[in-house]
Amino acid sequence: MTEVIRNDREYIANTYARFNVEIERGKGSLVYAPDGTEYIDMGAGIGVTAFGIADEEWKRAVIGQLNAVQHTSNLYYTKPCTELAKALCLRTGMKKVFFGNSGAEANECAIKVARKYAAERKGPKCYTIVTLKNSFHGRTLTTLAATGQEVFHEKFQPLTPGFVHAEPDDTQGLEALVASCDPAAIMIETVQGEGGVKALDAEFVKAVERICRERDLLFIVDEVQTGNGRSGALYSYMNFGVQPDLVTTAKGLGGGLPIGACLIGERAENVLGCGDHGSTFGANPVCCAGALNILNRIDDRLLAEVREKSAYLFRELRGAKGAVSVSGMGLMIGILPEKPAREVVQRCIDRGVLCLTAKDRVRLLPALNIPFETLQRAVAAIKDALAE
Ligand SMILES: *Cc1c(COP(=O)(O)O)cnc(C)c1O
Repeated sequence: MTEVIRNDREYIANTYARFNVEIERGKGSLVYAPDGTEYIDMGAGIGVTAFGIADEEWKRAVIGQLNAVQHTSNLYYTKPCTELAKALCLRTGMKKVFFGNSGAEANECAIKVARKYAAERKGPKCYTIVTLKNSFHGRTLTTLAATGQEVFHEKFQPLTPGFVHAEPDDTQGLEALVASCDPAAIMIETVQGEGGVKALDAEFVKAVERICRERDLLFIVDEVQTGNGRSGALYSYMNFGVQPDLVTTAKGLGGGLPIGACLIGERAENVLGCGDHGSTFGANPVCCAGALNILNRIDDRLLAEVREKSAYLFRELRGAKGAVSVSGMGLMIGILPEKPAREVVQRCIDRGVLCLTAKDRVRLLPALNIPFETLQRAVAAIKDALAE
């Protein structure tokens, strides 16, 4: 056991089932252990390092801002957050942005907006938010309540009240639930990431939007994992031809630095007033400068490349020996293996490839710009691991 592993076991809270891999450095989609062992990174820090490790352009943006000013508080104006917010709005048609530091905080903001919007229009009893079973929206007590998976709830009662969970892809069930609970909003992931990389039916996503319009509910799409090019569109809702009222995102937006954003559309653009919400680290100029660089590089050419690599992965992995099925969208891929997913991931590690799990699946979230040759090497190793 190395000193790092010893210290980790002794001093780090015991919340993670880490694999026996220590990462010391990396470049692009390759990472290295202290002894020089090389791994192909098919997890990208759980969909975070959108342009890989130590990307030169992103580093220039981050270091440039670090040399100017690293933090100011939100009492003063700074340029990086305004430029990032403007770019996000221009590319989505949303009207306002609130910056936090994580996906959970982005969702907390959306939930606060939805509650205030509904309270002002329909009174204080209209606060329920409908989310989906098998969803994942974060680890705070409120976003855990939003998360439609009992396993996350059991040990932490009581959670924030006001969340009910509908069955994914069941429009009639959703309509019945909405009719019974007079909600403020419906919140979905278009592809349930932690829930096993399962894309919702396009018809269902359209129905969610329609129900929101008919009843004046806010339509919230959690794009923490699916956003920022991951799905093959800038935001995954764009693949479904819908327009949400609130979009939350984080993970890939920061390129490896912590940032979360809640994008607020026209219907709710003036809901938040002075003092309604805040964050000490939110809109941090270094994180925003890096994120602006990331966002500006998620262009049509890169998105086409993401879709091409996605098609390649589906082609190679569907029907591969040891793979029951393949799900997902863009560079967000779930493989249901015949063997337990964690065992397959360990076999991938033995072959120099780092993959993730999501429930019973092996999950792939590589950097969006992973070179094709590297992807081919990773696929060969993954197929070999699946077949063993
Ligand atoms: C990861 C994730 C979150 C939580 O993000 P944190 O940054 O860990 O708080 C929320 N929603 C979805 C869909 C996610 O994938």
